[in-house]
Amino acid sequence: MKLIGAHVAVDGGVASAPLNAAAIGAKAFAMFTRNPSRWKSEPLLPSEIEAFKDNCANGGYTPDVILPHDSYLINLGAKDTKKLFLSRMAFLDEMQRCEQLGLSMLNFHPGSHLNEMTEEECLRRIASSINKTLEQTSGVKAVIENTAGQGSNLGYSFEQLAFIISLIEDKSRVGVCIDSCHAFAAGYDLSTAEGYAGVWRHFDETIGLKYLSAMHINDTKKGLGSHVDRHETMGNGMLGMEFFRLLMADPRMNDIPLILETPNPDIWAEEIKTLYSLPGAL
Ligand SMILES: [Zn+2]
Ligand SMILES: [Zn+2]
Repeated sequence: MKLIGAHVAVDGGVASAPLNAAAIGAKAFAMFTRNPSRWKSEPLLPSEIEAFKDNCANGGYTPDVILPHDSYLINLGAKDTKKLFLSRMAFLDEMQRCEQLGLSMLNFHPGSHLNEMTEEECLRRIASSINKTLEQTSGVKAVIENTAGQGSNLGYSFEQLAFIISLIEDKSRVGVCIDSCHAFAAGYDLSTAEGYAGVWRHFDETIGLKYLSAMHINDTKKGLGSHVDRHETMGNGMLGMEFFRLLMADPRMNDIPLILETPNPDIWAEEIKTLYSLPGAL
């Protein structure tokens, strides 16, 4: 069974996320647990936490179908000492919020070298940030997202993701989220049956399929290897419906959150419905 959802809004606080997910027929969802464009955030209130848990239980959303996303400001590979400190503090807070909400995963972008150090140095710094955070928390898996490789963002190749994982002390608490738009922009052709099969073979050889914890299922506006991150509505981009058909028919994609971050929230319900009508989705 495919667990399809979207990155829903938390307009009325975190407790609104499961309600917004249920309203669009989602069986999984992504959310922010704090303002993604601010360094500081108010702590979650016990009443908010309780309401969130109640709404999740009522909607049938268990922790394994919920994929919180961290703040955009965080750079776990920053060279600047102050920036790295702020990033690690914020990342720890993100993890602790997940613990408080009873969640089991936190999705994040690895980090950027900002042309201030080598790629390897930055990847080592990212791994060290993850290790430090995992030591201070429990029960929440660090789910690293692949990037399009725009600017100096790292984590655009499977080899880079595998290198980070190789440096993580507790491998039971690290996973990977593959964003289809980012993968295509980074040069992984998921748009044809042959390309799709080859990409996942390569993934299994470099990272290992057991680390695949979730997917962001976006179409893309930009071309193969463009390194430009521009999401597109399902079927309207360079990946096209063939990718979504292949994904639904792929049993390896069962039981992990498959999250739409497509640009038009008004049609998420329709996109989810279309996906569930494809062979292999149910
Ligand atoms: Zn994404
Ligand atoms: Zn993106």
